[in-house]
Amino acid sequence: MKRLPSRQVHLDFHTSEFIPYVGASFDPDKFAKTVSDACVNSMTVFARCHHGWLYYDSEKYPEAVHPNLINRDLMTEQVRALHRYGIKAPIYLTVQWDRRAAYAHPEWLIRRADGSHEGGSFSEPGFYQSLCVNTGYVDYLKDITKEICMKLGDELDGFFFDIVGIRPCLCQRCRSEMQERGIDTSDNSKVREFAKFVLDRFKKDMTETVRSYKDDCTIFYNAGHVGPCTYSSSSAFTHFELESLPSGQWGYLHFPLTARYARGLGKDCVGMTGKFHTEWGDFHSLKNSAALEFECFRMLSLGFAASIGDQLEPCGALNPATYKLIGNVYKEFAQREKWARPSVPLTEAVVITPERSDAEFNIPDSIMGATQMLEELAIQFDIAGFEADLERYPLWILPDDLIVDDNFRKRADKYVERGGKVLACARGGQNACGRYPDSFGALSGGKRDIYPDFLVAEGELSEGLEEENEYVIYLQGEALIPSSAQTVLSARAPYFKRSGEHFCSHRYTPSAKGEKYPAVLKNGNVILFSHPIFCQYRSNAPLWCKKLISNAMDIIGFERMIRHDGPSTMTISALLQPELRRINLHMLTYIPVRKSASIDIIEERTTVRNVTVRFNLPEKILSARIVPEDIPLEIKDSGITVPQIDGYAIVELSF
Ligand SMILES: [Zn+2]
Repeated sequence: MKRLPSRQVHLDFHTSEFIPYVGASFDPDKFAKTVSDACVNSMTVFARCHHGWLYYDSEKYPEAVHPNLINRDLMTEQVRALHRYGIKAPIYLTVQWDRRAAYAHPEWLIRRADGSHEGGSFSEPGFYQSLCVNTGYVDYLKDITKEICMKLGDELDGFFFDIVGIRPCLCQRCRSEMQERGIDTSDNSKVREFAKFVLDRFKKDMTETVRSYKDDCTIFYNAGHVGPCTYSSSSAFTHFELESLPSGQWGYLHFPLTARYARGLGKDCVGMTGKFHTEWGDFHSLKNSAALEFECFRMLSLGFAASIGDQLEPCGALNPATYKLIGNVYKEFAQREKWARPSVPLTEAVVITPERSDAEFNIPDSIMGATQMLEELAIQFDIAGFEADLERYPLWILPDDLIVDDNFRKRADKYVERGGKVLACARGGQNACGRYPDSFGALSGGKRDIYPDFLVAEGELSEGLEEENEYVIYLQGEALIPSSAQTVLSARAPYFKRSGEHFCSHRYTPSAKGEKYPAVLKNGNVILFSHPIFCQYRSNAPLWCKKLISNAMDIIGFERMIRHDGPSTMTISALLQPELRRINLHMLTYIPVRKSASIDIIEERTTVRNVTVRFNLPEKILSARIVPEDIPLEIKDSGITVPQIDGYAIVELSF
């Protein structure tokens, strides 16, 4: 696998034509030295921005060069200056957002069925009118791309194509191609499917174009999310950059979710956050240092390189405070990265994702809840689609809304027969007709009409809960009918379904203390919950949901690799370095706090003391030490006690 530079900056430069003297303060050596001093080894610089301006001296489109750009070849000078310091400099090109082109070429705009254009209005600030990559626009984009390839030649490190998202389009070109292909243009799902086809074709074609000039540069297409939507075109990418600014629209949960999927695609990955207090375009703000540490260290803990987004001010000079902040984080990052890169994530479970492949920002609550809960339980897991080698994982987790086909039902039966373990919730594992795999030993009687259900804490599944207490599950579950499965947890119904006529108190009708019925079934290695437990956890995170899932893993005999007695806010990620005969446990104890109405804030590291970690790893561990500090730890009862974790600690376990 080709490795990416590990400490990157993505230098935005969307610059208005109403600002004078653009790039006037650019000093090549000062620029590159600032970057180098901040321990950065790759910086993505701009050829063309969302305003539509070019930042190099284009011969083909001189009128598109930023009109107030003092140094007509800023991009090339940035590349050369960075190279002199041994820093890579891939090139940024916008794809679907270009305000200048959108104005000049209305025939290039993505159109809705009523003929109006997609994206933002021209009367509002912003460049969010999207261009269609099935129009003549692509020729313009290719001309620019080719010109940069020729201009930079051997100095070209790569391309970052931005804003390459699945956007249904009914422009004249798309409409006529759909008609030629017999696609019903009134069927929204077919139009969306076609948009994905067009986008995948564009990526493949663009990669071939770049390859005709340079066969080893990096190529990435950004859609703000990597997931099942990326899979069908992944051969057009050299690597994956996971744009996920936790203080922006993504939040803190998006990164681990997308990361656990992306790392299964067989290419190196870089996580991308920002130096901004909020997100892109927030020029005059600095992210809290502890937050930036956490975001970068979390990338490293999953084996990824890091990229920090910045925006160069129009004058062309880097802000010293920004590079002081980045440098402080990257210096520490650099000391730790050899315990993460290269490495193989050590995994024991896979969450099979119900995420759609034809949309980027449509992440099901079940996957969000599962990611949150499994990280709290220190389960070492990936997220994957049906096409993955799922059989290599000892445990499959089929979340609440994972509808499967009959081939997969048979595949699950075979997996269980060979000793595989399955944890399923609600409709997870059902086909479209509501049938589970035979190995579940259960049928669904459809959704329970009267709900919520109240789980009665009895038996080994309820370990750690209050004996015989009734625990509500707020979301509607399935009526389970066991055939060969045994009931390991039961529930009771409320007096009646809450309605306008029949209701009791503020929230829901309480338990009628009546007959119990099955809520969780076990059939050998398979455990099936009637409720969408992961969606419930996403909604309001009841602790009893987490305890039940944890106990369920135990009672089907799943022997997890890691258990710890640290707080639930701590994460542990195990990375294997086989040649070095070591497994490194990356432990993080930063706590995002909802201090504001809009975003989570991390202001300081959280120090945690005397955490005992027990492990059950595929290798016999001979010694343990905290690195890079080199503090030896005693191994006792297949475990260690880490005296202190100040935000981040790595424990190297040698075998
Ligand atoms: Zn179109």
